[in-house]
Amino acid sequence: MKYQVYARHNLHKIPSYGRISQEQVHAIKVVSEVLPFKTNNYVVNELIDWDNYQDDPMYILNFPQKGMLKPSQFRNLSDMLEKKVSKADLAKHINELRLNLNPHPAGQLEHNVPTLKGEKLTGIQHKYREIMLIFPTQGQTCHAYCTFCFRWPQFTGLNELKFAMKQPNLMVSYLKENPEITDILFTGGDPMVMRAEVLERYFNAILEADLPQLKTIRIGTKSLSFWPYRFLTDPDAGQILDLFRKISDRGIHVALMAHLNHPRELETDAVKEAISRIRDTGAQIRSQSPLLRNINDNHDLWADMWRKQVNLGIVPYYMFVARDTGAQSYFGVTLEQAHRIFNDAYQQVSGICRTVRGPSMSAGPGKVRIVGITEVKGEKVFVLEFLQGRDPKWVGKPFFAAYDEQAQWLDDLVPAFGATEFFYEQEYKKLLKVDKLPGHILTPENKQYA
Ligand code: SF4
Repeated sequence: MKYQVYARHNLHKIPSYGRISQEQVHAIKVVSEVLPFKTNNYVVNELIDWDNYQDDPMYILNFPQKGMLKPSQFRNLSDMLEKKVSKADLAKHINELRLNLNPHPAGQLEHNVPTLKGEKLTGIQHKYREIMLIFPTQGQTCHAYCTFCFRWPQFTGLNELKFAMKQPNLMVSYLKENPEITDILFTGGDPMVMRAEVLERYFNAILEADLPQLKTIRIGTKSLSFWPYRFLTDPDAGQILDLFRKISDRGIHVALMAHLNHPRELETDAVKEAISRIRDTGAQIRSQSPLLRNINDNHDLWADMWRKQVNLGIVPYYMFVARDTGAQSYFGVTLEQAHRIFNDAYQQVSGICRTVRGPSMSAGPGKVRIVGITEVKGEKVFVLEFLQGRDPKWVGKPFFAAYDEQAQWLDDLVPAFGATEFFYEQEYKKLLKVDKLPGHILTPENKQYA
């Protein structure tokens, strides 16, 4: 299958273009000035239900929606486009809009970028002790873009917001200096857009370094859903699979962390065949997805998705809470809803699906799971725990936040029982090297502390 990409400039070439209303076309054009948009022939021909496209989760997952900007933001930008304002004025306005959308949530730029011999390693993030994230330059795009994407700044023209690295040798040097790292996560974008020979360069550097502590190479990817032909008919599909086999044969576990947002993504012949070929190499596939209003905010859908995954040999891994960036106001659900949907889905499935964890917020101090909502001595509370923490000692320790039916993120919560701070905050301040955290409701100005 030949890969055909569609974006703003050739929207009219989409085979189903004639079915998209003029209002929708306008919305796509306006919103995609701010947030990235790209689709391809597999998504439009095999995933989207064009008979009902306006409410179709696959369409909403991939095509920008008017509601992703605030009404005033949409109106102003639309007016500017209509008036054909100068390129410089338009670019300035778009830049301001983007910076208002919290482009780097959870302090990714400030606090997760490590140093080696005093030099910042842009292109690497090291937040949790055992795992290092690498953003290879060649993998900083995707086969199509998700409308909810929390890495959206990677795909915009905001150069200062990009982080990526070209040289595998820096990655290896950092691994040698940090023997506590057992897992590497290749991420992006989507590393599976890289040609096999490029990916092989990174993998060979790891193998040649012969790092006894390294046990797992994870690859965060949405290619199974957005371009399964990557593993079937692309010219280097066989080389990719051979590469997975080679790594597995060397005793390093290869784990594809597949972004799967909806059961339909698992229904085509192409995806089923791709999953089977990947598993034949010895690699495992684990699944993760945020919970997204307008796409998958339904417990039966999640139960169905986990069952389908398990039937195909995929291990359900994470349900995330939509991150506080980009179009969160369009996709986000409250923490209470997230907890209810997770539980109602979890209760329906057999134990073999219950490898999934969530709903989890990838927040500044760590991955925080909502364990439950309950009442303690007359006070309604959220029970929370760290699945991952900047300090590993925080993991697994329950803590309590006052119940708030509007809360959508950790920053919206305050400690329960009249406490002035959560148990981890003193330590967190020390780790961030700041004197104070500016309270629990973080404003745009103090998001840098998140
Ligand atoms: S595949 Fe991942 S990185 Fe790419 S657009 Fe979707 S969420 Fe963003």
